[in-house]
Amino acid sequence: MSTFGGKLEEKELSFIGIDSFESHLLSCSTFMLSHFHKDHMRGIQDHSFQVAFNNTKNNMMLYASPLTITFLKRNKTIHLREDKLVSLEIGFPNLLKVHSDNFEYICVTLLPAGHCPGSVMFLIEAGAHRILYTGDFRIQLQDLKLFKPLLIDKEGNDDPKNISALYLDTTFASKNYYEFPMRKESSANLIKVVEEWLNQDPNNKICLWMPGYVGIEYAIVEVAKYFKCPIHVHKQKYDELYSSIAELDNYVTPVYTNNRIHACSKNECDTDNVNCMQLNKNVKCVQLNALAFTKDVISTGGHVIVKNNITRVCYSSHPSCKELREIVRFLNPEKLYFNVIVNQTYKEIYDILTENNWTPRAVKEVVQENPKVVLKLSNRFKFNHNVQNKTEDTFNKRPRLESPERE
Ligand SMILES: [Zn+2]
Ligand SMILES: [Zn+2]
Ligand SMILES: [Zn+2]
Repeated sequence: MSTFGGKLEEKELSFIGIDSFESHLLSCSTFMLSHFHKDHMRGIQDHSFQVAFNNTKNNMMLYASPLTITFLKRNKTIHLREDKLVSLEIGFPNLLKVHSDNFEYICVTLLPAGHCPGSVMFLIEAGAHRILYTGDFRIQLQDLKLFKPLLIDKEGNDDPKNISALYLDTTFASKNYYEFPMRKESSANLIKVVEEWLNQDPNNKICLWMPGYVGIEYAIVEVAKYFKCPIHVHKQKYDELYSSIAELDNYVTPVYTNNRIHACSKNECDTDNVNCMQLNKNVKCVQLNALAFTKDVISTGGHVIVKNNITRVCYSSHPSCKELREIVRFLNPEKLYFNVIVNQTYKEIYDILTENNWTPRAVKEVVQENPKVVLKLSNRFKFNHNVQNKTEDTFNKRPRLESPERE
């Protein structure tokens, strides 16, 4: 759950609002939305924001990936002028004209975030600033190393460019969430659960619980491919979201034809008031989840656990603590900010991500807690004391779903 307030710490860039549309951002003119999840869209439905944004005298623009722009336009509760919603192609630098005393243009590059369909990270270059804002993401280090806009070619070796500030998805920056299976492994675990259940009884069905509006589509495709049948989804969701994602074309359907695998709704499977699946003894509810899979749970129960008649399969759309540490070390930013701070202090997260000599496999007693070690990470890496106390092309074709991961 993002706790990012919408504004970057860089005062020169205070005209940019990211992943928040609340009243304190009404002075911004350049808005960016990393993906279509509620915790990144606070205020977007507010009357005050919509009035300000739609006023042509204001120079407000909203930039996002082609798919996110499509979701925005199709959503019936969001009423923003379509000519102010601008989709940027992923992977290419865009010079954006901005309204600021300090800059005439800034350069923004969208990078695939691998979190949910349409999700991107923003690389923002302006003057001396080169900022990477990850939004929510799940990218492995070896894939990040292939993102050319982040790299500088030094004698055939790709090193990361100097990042002046990294705004990081720290959802799982905790020793309790050191390692998650890769998405491919999670999908294989899910397929095994589904297959075992369907083989037990010809009347058996599967109800996949959706964690949010979008998020587990990668797994849905893998399941549909394996069983060679489309997954039943809610018609409204199909119309608003899935019908615009080319990669889902043959793998989800809003048409109920005795499907055995459903991903229609969280609580019960019903579409258009037609109850496609009554929850009874033949229905196994399966939830893809990461939060429940702490280090201790994984060490005793593995990547699949059953609790209160719900089968949970470990699947994360955010980086594990280990993945975060690898990425921070590789990018080696000058400043580090955290987009998710819940029940932790900034200092605690900072130490977890930068602490050397720490592995979760070590028994707790031998973990060396040395606060000074964070300063050794890099000469360029400066601890930012100011934030230590923080509590907390117009759309004319169907966009492609970026490849979530190369595994
Ligand atoms: Zn989020
Ligand atoms: Zn999200
Ligand atoms: Zn259904």
